Amino acid sequence: MSDCIFCKITKGEIPAEIVYEDEHCIAFRDIQPKAPVHLLVIPRKHVANLDDLTDDDRDLISHMMLTIPRIARQQGLNEGYRTVTNNGEGGGQEVFHLHFHILGGGRLHHL
Ligand code: C5P
Repeated sequence: MSDCIFCKITKGEIPAEIVYEDEHCIAFRDIQPKAPVHLLVIPRKHVANLDDLTDDDRDLISHMMLTIPRIARQQGLNEGYRTVTNNGEGGGQEVFHLHFHILGGGRLHHL
């Protein structure tokens, strides 16, 4: 998607503080952190949100779920962290490119 801000980050067209990347996904620091460590993990492929996934994305989403704890460990989140994905406008989603927030580095409020 040519006008997608997160697609532009995957292509290096706009800057982001990338902390992890592989052939399927990247992770970077949220520009408006809501916790001492606040990362976003996104697929390189443009997928709007969970509703946009198909059976063809089974390996991709599985890879992302397995990669999130690796990234959290690399970032020193040994006491735990929260993973959130906002899905659709009603779910508070602002950027329509699938992303998993990783929040940690302090004690988070109970949901
Ligand atoms: O889940 P939601 O769509 O609301 O989250 C989008 C997130 O993307 C926000 O936390 C915002 O701060 C972040 N963002 C970013 N870099 C950008 C644009 C948005 O980290 N260039």
